[in-house]
Amino acid sequence: MWISNGSCAAAYPAQPSQITSNFQAARVFDKPLKHNGIHTAEAAYTPGYLYWVMAQDPFLAAAIRQARKSLSEGGVPIGAVLVDEGRILAEGHNRRVQSGSPIDHGETNCLRNAGRLRAGIYRRSTMYSTLSPCPMCSGAIVLYRIPRVVVGENRTYRGAEDYLRSHGVEVEVLNDAECIELMTEFIRAHADLWNEDIGE
Ligand SMILES: [Zn+2]
Repeated sequence: MWISNGSCAAAYPAQPSQITSNFQAARVFDKPLKHNGIHTAEAAYTPGYLYWVMAQDPFLAAAIRQARKSLSEGGVPIGAVLVDEGRILAEGHNRRVQSGSPIDHGETNCLRNAGRLRAGIYRRSTMYSTLSPCPMCSGAIVLYRIPRVVVGENRTYRGAEDYLRSHGVEVEVLNDAECIELMTEFIRAHADLWNEDIGE
C-alpha cells in the first residue's frame, strides 16, 4: 500500500548512503521475498530507495545486521541467521577476535546460539550467511543436513560451495552490494586479520 502512494518514504533516509543498516528493511516485511536477481548493486539502487527497500530479503538483512555488530565490536564482519518456517531461530556473527576462538565463525556461532535442535528442524531450515561459507562451516551445515544456504556474496571469498552442492545442499548466491562492500572494505583495512580467519 505504501509503495503505491509513496507516502511512507519520508520516514526513511532519502539516500541509500544514509542507511547504516538495512535492518530498517527487515522491519518492513515479515516474510521472505523471492530472490529474482534484484539484489545486485545495479538493480537494487537504480530505481531508487523505495525499490531498494523492497528488494531486501529480511533474513539477509538480519545477517547483515549481525555482520555490522561484529564490525562495531572490532571483529570480522560476517553474520548468519538460521531460519525455520519463515522465522529466525538464531542469529550469530564471527567472533574470532572478540572471543579469541578460531572456530567461532558466523555460521558456527549462529548454530551455537541456536542451541540443541532436533534433527528434523535442521533438516527443514535455511542458513543465511553474509559470506560464502568456509569449509569448516560448510561441514557443520552438511553434518546437520541443513538443506539450503543463502549466501550474501562470494565475490570476496568463495567457500566450499561445491562441497555443499555435492551433498545435496541448495546454495543460492545473491551477491548483495552491501555484503560485498562490507567485506571489501574490511579486507582492505585488515588484510592480516582476514587471512588469519581463513587460515592463510
Ligand atoms: Zn566459516
